[in-house]
Amino acid sequence: MIISTVGSHSALQILYGAKKESFSTKVYCLKGNEKLYRRYPVADQIVTVDSYIDLLDIKYENEEIFVPHGSIISTLEKRALDIPIPMIGNREGMYWEMVREKNLELLKKANIRTPYTYKPEEIDKLCIVKFPGAKGGDGYFLCSSYQEFEEKIGELIKEKKVSEEEASNAQIQEYIVGVTMYPHYFYSPIYDRVELLGIDRRYETNVDALGRLSQSHSKISPTYTVVGNQPLIARESFLHKLLDYGDLLREVSVDSFHPGLIGPYCIEMALTDKEIVAFEFTSRIVAGTSLYISGSLYSKILFDEEMSMGRRIAREIKLAKEQNRLDDIIS
Ligand code: AMP
Repeated sequence: MIISTVGSHSALQILYGAKKESFSTKVYCLKGNEKLYRRYPVADQIVTVDSYIDLLDIKYENEEIFVPHGSIISTLEKRALDIPIPMIGNREGMYWEMVREKNLELLKKANIRTPYTYKPEEIDKLCIVKFPGAKGGDGYFLCSSYQEFEEKIGELIKEKKVSEEEASNAQIQEYIVGVTMYPHYFYSPIYDRVELLGIDRRYETNVDALGRLSQSHSKISPTYTVVGNQPLIARESFLHKLLDYGDLLREVSVDSFHPGLIGPYCIEMALTDKEIVAFEFTSRIVAGTSLYISGSLYSKILFDEEMSMGRRIAREIKLAKEQNRLDDIIS
């Protein structure tokens, strides 16, 4: 069997994990990006494509399973659902992830506190304005009034940084002042359990650099472009809540898009001194899992071996294949 993915985001880790579980591996790369996968020996086959659109009518192998990640969601958007290769996970979940209203709807159904959302005219406190798709925080801005919103969005449209359509689909959320935390979950149909395998926090420029400036420079507007990830261990007393959130989201996803979240997913949250607020979920592997290529505290205790998220995916595929249950984990 072959495990394949697209050459970016968390591909090194996905393919390395697949190799650890003795799968053949394949990476689909945009021309020029294949150099990386020649330098690191993780891909048995490298297929170059001119554009990710080519994936929509790609010829694939008989026993190939594709691992989706954030790059295909941000570039192909809804067309990502039409990639013909069987995928690990429930592709319907990617749709719920992409459409911001659906994303928040699922979190709310799970009784997880989410930021309040506003219409432009309603803005009366610090808000963050977000655009559709997993673009790593690109273009997000803060504002505290309708007038400020209009000015800033107008500028972005003028500079062609966002389209009129993206602007009209922008989501305006209450800004949560808290420490961000991204727990990595895995729902295993084989073991019928949700596993918490690691936690990271994203490192975003320039917002994570502003603390290095004195208050006198505080007029610089924060931006939220992800540049990397840092490992994080939660206080043990928070783990109960993090595990509950993972279970609850999985439970409500079954009704919303049967058979629900399968394989890797994540809840993006911020912890204030009073509460945990989740602003998004992802229905697939997040890039921060690559920190734990040799496993994390949590995955080490669960498996007592070097269990990365990439390897966990491959392990589930292997077990499903052995038990003739591949249909339970792919879509
Ligand atoms: P997202 O595209 O939703 O993953 O957001 C990108 C980044 O923007 C997050 O990693 C946070 O740093 C920040 N962010 C998003 N939503 C909020 C919010 N409601 N309050 C504070 N920060 C946020």
